[in-house]
Amino acid sequence: MSDMMKAVALTGLRKAEIVLRPIPSPGPGEALIHVQHIGICGSDLHYYIDGGIGDKKVPYPMVLGHESAGTVVEAGAGVPRDLIGKKVCVEPQVTCGHCRWCREGRYNLCPDVRFLGSIPNDGSMSEYLAFPADRLVELPSSMTTLEGAMVEPMSVGFHAALRSDAVVPGRKALIIGAGCIGLCTLLALRKMGLTEIHQTEPLELRRNKAQELGAIVHDPRKESNEDLMRASGGEGFDLVIECAGETDTPSQAVELCRRGGSVTLVSMPAQTSLPFPTLQVVRKELDVHGLYRYRNQYAAVTEMIADGLPVREIVSHTYPLEQAPEAFAFNAEHKDECVKIILEV
Ligand SMILES: [Zn+2]
Ligand SMILES: [Zn+2]
Repeated sequence: MSDMMKAVALTGLRKAEIVLRPIPSPGPGEALIHVQHIGICGSDLHYYIDGGIGDKKVPYPMVLGHESAGTVVEAGAGVPRDLIGKKVCVEPQVTCGHCRWCREGRYNLCPDVRFLGSIPNDGSMSEYLAFPADRLVELPSSMTTLEGAMVEPMSVGFHAALRSDAVVPGRKALIIGAGCIGLCTLLALRKMGLTEIHQTEPLELRRNKAQELGAIVHDPRKESNEDLMRASGGEGFDLVIECAGETDTPSQAVELCRRGGSVTLVSMPAQTSLPFPTLQVVRKELDVHGLYRYRNQYAAVTEMIADGLPVREIVSHTYPLEQAPEAFAFNAEHKDECVKIILEV
């Protein structure tokens, strides 16, 4: 193989380009992965459109991507040779291992976390990736690397479901938003035994997808909060999970939650603070949960996907890696026509 590889880098606002980078060699404890599928995440798209998230700015050029799966082609010192040839997905976070949060098992909160494709770190949207072997999960033979790339967003969905103790069969849930993460959250709640799951989404394609995957869907442009309250049976939902990231959806989550219920805020709003109905949170004695990425999910999620969790249904488009510039442009300009794009190497 030649010693250069293609990678997708942001080089300016709304500019994703194919660049050449040296193929990395795996250091001690690392494996070299030939990446085969990589998802375009909402965060990649934020960087593309806005040049950053909040006060974090993209250091151009920066390689994007963190939702990847592929085949191990080389093992660094101390890594078992029998890993070579195995299909794997990549948990994209490396943590310090000794801070209070790492020791408590909440390693996603490690202040020294290095996350692929998150400012200022380069990501995995490239032909090869050298990464710590202990962050890889082997894919069972029944699973494709395309499904392997979906382990990342699906881990967010399960982490969102598990943040609340209100996920008990028989309870009524509402998910606000049916983008990729909203749909992954739907699959997680269903897998955990909830049967009545309502979901709001203004875009028809996404709403139809949610319905196919088992949600009772609502168009927030046509149905008011009063309508949704009635749909809950009158008292509000036991559990509301916010995955839309609009200015008014966190307050909507609080309004539509029943007394003593639970609200989980998943999406990252563009603004650092939003109006929030604090009085209702107090009077209704709500449990409000935040959420940051995921932890301890990769192995279990991989197993559930291999067992038939239909993540493939969420993928609306695939593009070859070379066409990443077109894929980003399409994703940014035709949000109503796509749910999830995955690049193929
Ligand atoms: Zn992601
Ligand atoms: Zn740590």
